Amino acid sequence: MADEFDAIVVGAGLAGSTAALRLARGGANVLLLERGPEPGVKNLSGGVLWGQDLAALLPEWWKEMPLERHIVRKRFGFLSADRALSTVFEEPAWDRPPYVAHSVLRARTDAWLARKAEEAGATLVTGVPVERLAWEDARVRGVVQSGETMSAPVTLLCDGANSRVSLATPIRPEARLSADATELGIKEVYSLPAAEIEERFQLAPGQGHAEEWVYGGGPPGVMAGGFLYTNQDTLSLGLIVQIGSLFGTGAHSHDLLERFKLHPAIAPRLEGATLVEYGAKLISSGWASRPATFHGPGWMVCGDAAGFVFSNGLVIQGMNYAIRSGLLAAETALECRTGGRYDARALSAYDRRLESMGVLADFREFEGLDRVKWNPRFYSVYPRLATQLFHQRLVADGGPKPNLLALLARLRRSEGLPIRAILSDGLDAAQEL
Ligand SMILES: Cc1cc2nc3c(=O)[nH]c(=O)nc-3n(C[C@H](O)[C@H](O)[C@H](O)COP(=O)(O)OP(=O)(O)OC[C@H]3O[C@@H](n4cnc5c(N)ncnc54)[C@H](O)[C@@H]3O)c2cc1C
Repeated sequence: MADEFDAIVVGAGLAGSTAALRLARGGANVLLLERGPEPGVKNLSGGVLWGQDLAALLPEWWKEMPLERHIVRKRFGFLSADRALSTVFEEPAWDRPPYVAHSVLRARTDAWLARKAEEAGATLVTGVPVERLAWEDARVRGVVQSGETMSAPVTLLCDGANSRVSLATPIRPEARLSADATELGIKEVYSLPAAEIEERFQLAPGQGHAEEWVYGGGPPGVMAGGFLYTNQDTLSLGLIVQIGSLFGTGAHSHDLLERFKLHPAIAPRLEGATLVEYGAKLISSGWASRPATFHGPGWMVCGDAAGFVFSNGLVIQGMNYAIRSGLLAAETALECRTGGRYDARALSAYDRRLESMGVLADFREFEGLDRVKWNPRFYSVYPRLATQLFHQRLVADGGPKPNLLALLARLRRSEGLPIRAILSDGLDAAQEL
């Protein structure tokens, strides 16, 4: 039986729509399936898009795409229960076209990109939750929904972190995602007039501010990072929590977010703003959440479904890798179409592309980051120590300033922190930096 399509793409997020756009432009008959009623409706990001990868397909993407503000300043640091210690990065080039990063709202960006794929000739069908992959002789021959098979020689899995169709298959032999390699993103959007945002964050019209925090204000053991981004006339704010770290603490992610919003470094920025949207979504935890392989007979896996999210508590980047991997998978599928072969060997060109375009190299490079990222001391003890150290050395309270070494020793003892733990954590952090 002849295949109905040259390729099927599951999920019209950034990975899927990029792939579908490239495939359609390359002359392929591509079906793009999205479970949501509209592309983007089911999506959620902080989110700052580092969108340069789009230039390969849309050279002036930043002029056309519905973006919020171009980021001119990035602040990152530690929050203890009531103190903040941060640093700010600014660079003049961030304020000049084509800019380096933009705040985005995914309902708008994803719908726009999916339309681009449609305009290029892709068939977009929404409201279709793909139930499973159609396997035949250990290869994927398409997808199944409501008992009906849609067939293609290659299927691109772009269905995000919670890629159910790949669980308990050769792609992901495990039956469920690991709580230690999956994060939960919770986000709220607050409406605030553009002029007020600009005054509050000292921005000119169009400019945006991004901040990310290692959040040490939660219960002991809970590992979370917070973010706050300015949009045109809204603020995006939220937390990313390692799911496994919540177990046994009695903590709820919602309470944690409420606490974060009340932090003295955050609350004044929300004053007078009105909650207009909230949501939660799973996030892949980088290398630790990758599938068994990125390709196999008749399939490739891209974006969050492949674990391509870089996050370290201070920064989160997944949209850029989703776009790049979607593009590389599409180019591989086009090459296979020309060669007429979609076996594992032909599709291994995808891995080579991921390698040469730095995706795999980036994730391998930061593999050891998990030792720092999943070390609870970086979320509790160190934010407390760092903010106390600054407080005691900076504040002029009429008495002598404490000796630095004596102060460090006292703080260390008060936290019950062994010297060898500090040395080994310091070494891990230095290596990863
Ligand atoms: C709170 C939060 C903040 C974040 N902040 C940032 C940030 O600031 N910068 C950044 O770069 N990244 C950020 N990320 C990560 C970023 O959102 C992801 O890396 C990115 O969305 C991955 O894109 P994707 O296309 O692979 O997957 P997704 O965006 O998840 O898209 C997957 C699509 O597949 C669809 N789908 C799923 N299953 C099926 C099915 N069975 N059938 C049909 N369709 C299906 C979904 O509805 C969805 O549209 C953040 C994530 C969260 C949750």
